[in-house]
Amino acid sequence: MPIDLHTHSTASDGTEPSDVVVAQAARAGLDVVALTDHDTYAGWPAATAAATELGVDLVRGVEVSCSERGISVHLLAYLVDPEASGLLHELDRARDSRVTRIDRMVELMAADGIPVTVEEVRAQAGPGTTMGRPHIADALVASGFVRTRDEAFTDVLRNGSRYYVSHYAPDPVRAVELVRAAGGVPVMAHPFANGRGWTVDDSVIERMADAGLAGLEAHHRDHTPQERTHAVELAARLGLFVTGSSDYHGAGKENRLGENTTTPRVLAQIEEQATSGIDVVRAARA
Ligand code: AMP
Ligand code: FE
Ligand code: FE
Ligand code: ZN
Repeated sequence: MPIDLHTHSTASDGTEPSDVVVAQAARAGLDVVALTDHDTYAGWPAATAAATELGVDLVRGVEVSCSERGISVHLLAYLVDPEASGLLHELDRARDSRVTRIDRMVELMAADGIPVTVEEVRAQAGPGTTMGRPHIADALVASGFVRTRDEAFTDVLRNGSRYYVSHYAPDPVRAVELVRAAGGVPVMAHPFANGRGWTVDDSVIERMADAGLAGLEAHHRDHTPQERTHAVELAARLGLFVTGSSDYHGAGKENRLGENTTTPRVLAQIEEQATSGIDVVRAARA
């Protein structure tokens, strides 16, 4: 019963619409998939319709961008009430700030002779999309400056780049509180994925656990075997469950659906802990 609890659609920086992500999940033989776009619920309706049709169960979620003193933290939030105003307000703020931040990054790049304009970046995303560096990467691919998103990230778009600009994001402890207040279940995404930037130390995760964190995404391709083991041990010490997921972004990354999975037991815990009234969409099966 493969369960993959972390994917992205064109509502953020995935390359496929959310109904196509669900169709791909069906093709990949998943029984359950979670849609977790960065800072938006915009992909939920199309994914819900597709899940019902295609025989895949859908966990509606979101990946909340957070910042702990400048260090980026991603918090997966499952089965949240999309109308809960506290969390919604923070997501809106982060999305707005991401737009200004893209403008600023493009300005710095263009001033250095890199062939990219704000219009070209906007053209890579539909209306209401959560904008991110991958959309700048797509514009650089379109103009022939680089061949792939990954190539853009190894140089001009990486965290330490002279063109890097941060955006507003709530601190992770507050985000955990807001997810719980929205009836959702907070799980820290790829906690030790330090390949592309700094990660927080365990004391921050301890404070998140005190605030209501439910789990750690231990099994993720950006973790080494040692980091997975550490995540499993830390979770056990803090009374958290662990998940495994692909972090699928369509053609935007190599991550394949189902490459890491979560146990049915943990999915049951997520459902038990959710108080939002947002249920797992159960698909009728033939
Ligand atoms: P941002 O949210 O704008 O800071 O951009 C970070 C996003 O870029 C992450 O969510 C990743 O999905 C994506 N990303 C990071 N590194 C790469 C890479 N090497 N190739 C493709 N996408 C990447
Ligand atoms: Fe992403
Ligand atoms: Fe992430
Ligand atoms: Zn993600």
